Amino acid sequence: ELIKPMVHYIEQRGGRVLLRMPVEKVRRIGQGYEISTHYRKQRTQFYAQRLVSAIPLNNTLALFDSSKLERTYRKRLMHSPQLYSAFQAGLVFRRRKHFGCLHHQLLLPAPLPQIGARSFFLSLSHPHDTLRCKASEVVASVSAHIPDPAHTPVSDKEQLLRIIEQSLIEKGFFERGDLLYAHTSTARSWEKWTGRQWGFVGGYPQYRHIKPWQMVDARFDGAGAYICGDTTYPGQGIAGACLSGMIAVQKMKLDGMADVRRAKGAKKPEEIFRQKAEKSYL
Ligand SMILES: Cc1cc2nc3c(=O)[nH]c(=O)nc-3n(C[C@H](O)[C@H](O)[C@H](O)COP(=O)(O)OP(=O)(O)OC[C@H]3O[C@@H](n4cnc5c(N)ncnc54)[C@H](O)[C@@H]3O)c2cc1C
Repeated sequence: ELIKPMVHYIEQRGGRVLLRMPVEKVRRIGQGYEISTHYRKQRTQFYAQRLVSAIPLNNTLALFDSSKLERTYRKRLMHSPQLYSAFQAGLVFRRRKHFGCLHHQLLLPAPLPQIGARSFFLSLSHPHDTLRCKASEVVASVSAHIPDPAHTPVSDKEQLLRIIEQSLIEKGFFERGDLLYAHTSTARSWEKWTGRQWGFVGGYPQYRHIKPWQMVDARFDGAGAYICGDTTYPGQGIAGACLSGMIAVQKMKLDGMADVRRAKGAKKPEEIFRQKAEKSYL
């Protein structure tokens, strides 16, 4: 539901949202880019004068496969030990009361086994939200950090779920036997669903030793490619990802590249690029 107004906004302005078209390669051609997508047996190519990558820096670099860009980002690229994934549980439980606060962080008496998280986050559905469950039920989303996702396998999700259930019972959110439904996901699920390397989520943490101006900038290659999302300044979370997108737009404007309208009769980008020699400067 959340995405529909955004799709509508894009389509109202002549844009198109193409689903199930994961980009597998980006190649610099002349002053533009050739973008190759591959889904099941379907391969499609697009040509663009500028592009904005809204996926993590790690994934974006893999798409460009450029040693020059690898060198540029060598120091800023974060690896699994610096990153986090999430153990997530979607729950439905019987409503016994109305909660004054919908979002909680619960501190645990001992770190969670397997992942070492010392707390978890809990978000509850609004009492008037009967779209997702009955008025007599509550939908809850629980998440806990998984450090170093490439090297922290979760082999027993049920064990984590039981500890979280017990904790919620002890804190008075519901009583034993009230849990009606539960599903869980870990780094492997996030990697599958979002394509993010190692299934890391939440973005690049704001470490104390990294100054804001040392973080990844919106101008990805210094030419027509830009980057935004939770690995780009200011990073981390929904708010950071949105701000990074706004910054990318501002920088495109400053670079004189924000006007994407084509003059009447002007050639389509792909026509221009096809005429150019296929030389890659990267
Ligand atoms: C369990 C959990 C709880 C969280 N809780 C919070 C919270 O409470 N508050 C908060 O602020 N943040 C929270 N976050 C983090 C927040 O969800 C992310 O930081 C944010 O969604 C990142 O947005 P993004 O647009 O940068 O990246 P993504 O959300 O990863 O979006 C990237 C999109 O690109 C698509 N994609 C990937 N690869 C390709 C490709 N090759 N070609 C085409 N498309 C591709 C993906 O399918 C995806 O739709 C949470 C995350 C998780 C997993």
